[in-house]
Amino acid sequence: MRYFADYHTHTNFSGDSQAPMELMVKRAVELGLKELVFTDHVDYEYADPLFENIDFGDYLVSVNYCKDKYRKVIKILMGVEIGYQPHVESRIEELLDKVDFDFVIYSTHMADRLDFYTGAFFEGKERDLAYNRYFENVLQSIKNPANFNVYGHLDFIVRYGNYDSKSLSYQDHAAIIDKILRDIIYGGCGIEVNTSGYRYGLGQMHPQADIIRRYYKLGGEIITIGSDAHHPRDLCADFNSAYTLLREIGFKYINAYEGRKARFVKIP
Ligand SMILES: [Zn+2]
Ligand SMILES: [Zn+2]
Repeated sequence: MRYFADYHTHTNFSGDSQAPMELMVKRAVELGLKELVFTDHVDYEYADPLFENIDFGDYLVSVNYCKDKYRKVIKILMGVEIGYQPHVESRIEELLDKVDFDFVIYSTHMADRLDFYTGAFFEGKERDLAYNRYFENVLQSIKNPANFNVYGHLDFIVRYGNYDSKSLSYQDHAAIIDKILRDIIYGGCGIEVNTSGYRYGLGQMHPQADIIRRYYKLGGEIITIGSDAHHPRDLCADFNSAYTLLREIGFKYINAYEGRKARFVKIP
């Protein structure tokens, strides 16, 4: 199957990837993609300073180099994945004023200034309390929809936490998830389908199918698909499952972006 594009990818501009940008482009060309978007990390005041920031001068030079060199075969776009925390919002807005991104993903990688990855956030919390608190943080982060295009890996909290069962039931958190989805829809933003959950052995994408179905039911139309690849081999991983699920739910289109403006593309 031919894929359209990968809308969530990292390169060695992200603290957790060694992948040279051009190798990602070469793999994307091999896959026959029409577009590739780089969404390297900016996580102001993240627990690990490796993720803090990018040298955007260098980032732009590198993106433009790839854009020009591969112009005839693939469209390269410059995005970013911003880790939202309420106390860094003004810094995020400064960044968005300064750099002309094609595409912005907002993600919650920490909540209440506590890290998921190290487990600090989960300490002393029952599973569903932790999940609910995560969603409360997400809800707060989407107050200014002009700041982002799509919300990243919406139920990503299930990846961490040392619980016997990590499973998250849409029903158990329906009220707050609906609130989040409605705010995203009314704000003119979208969500992403992030296929990395499969590579983490979770047997699901982010968000899980129930939440994507609910998004569609509430009128959600804007959706992008990303692998969250940190290595060329993971580009478009499990996209067949994502395309199949979206079609099954009723989606006919996915989204592409340029200069932060969305357009609709038929699901291949
Ligand atoms: Zn992320
Ligand atoms: Zn990512």
